[in-house]
Amino acid sequence: MQEARYKMQDKECRISDAFYLASCLLLLTFSFFLLDTIFHFFSPSPLNAAEDNPLTPFNKGEFASARKKMVERDLKGRDIIDPKVLEIMGKVERHRFVDKHFQSVAYADHPLPIDEGQTISQPYIVALMTQVLKLKSGDKILEIGTGSGYQAAVLSEITPNIYTIEIRKKLADKAESRLKELGYGNVKVKAADGYFGWEEHAPFDAIIVTCAANHIPPPLTKQLKEGGRLVIPLGSTTYYQTLTLITKIKGELDVQHISGVAFVPMVGEAEKGR
Ligand code: SAH
Repeated sequence: MQEARYKMQDKECRISDAFYLASCLLLLTFSFFLLDTIFHFFSPSPLNAAEDNPLTPFNKGEFASARKKMVERDLKGRDIIDPKVLEIMGKVERHRFVDKHFQSVAYADHPLPIDEGQTISQPYIVALMTQVLKLKSGDKILEIGTGSGYQAAVLSEITPNIYTIEIRKKLADKAESRLKELGYGNVKVKAADGYFGWEEHAPFDAIIVTCAANHIPPPLTKQLKEGGRLVIPLGSTTYYQTLTLITKIKGELDVQHISGVAFVPMVGEAEKGR
């Protein structure tokens, strides 16, 4: 009887040991899981981005290969066929035009925030707008909406005569110094309302408007050369617009619809009275 009780106690003892061990293992697993979650939550975004995005914090060569992939996948893979445009998009360093926190995703095909609540356009749209303008070296081009300066840099790889207007002084100043620093000092930047164009340097072979308006600013069509092209996101400035290509033929405006787009609004004079 006494012996039986001892055996029983011994078994109970072994059962509680096993239970204790299992609890420890469970606790350990849970702690690992918790630490892992905390680590991922607080680690800087490029590390997080690396998991579902092949773009990790880069060195120069890695930026170049991400850019190459972007050209293949998002531009050639769609309808960008102009070899010059493809070459330039593979050359201009978009990551230099965004805040360092966004550099790891600079070659993903979407817009990114810049200062003052504005955006740098997605690479595909930059390439598309450049392509439809059918630019030649020596052309004189006016851009409305300098933003980061990226589109201006792309244009200046085709022709040195680039004029760009930005209504937000802080953005204009930042873009101007960035463009100089990156070797695009030929781009002339002005802080003003682009609605009125840049009379002093008119007429232009091409005008590119990179903010949305619900009508074409008349001063811009006036400052366009005969045969010149103007591209503008036209429509609702709060929702979507139609990327519209205007060609001036014998003083008349030929209108062509290109694609649906969503741009930040043109502010200033464009908002009045319409
Ligand atoms: N092309 C830019 C992106 C443009 S975002 C790039 O490559 O980064 C649109 C820009 O248009 C914003 O910076 C905004 O401030 C500017 N903008 C809005 N209304 C304007 C106006 N009336 N004249 C000039 N710029 C204007």
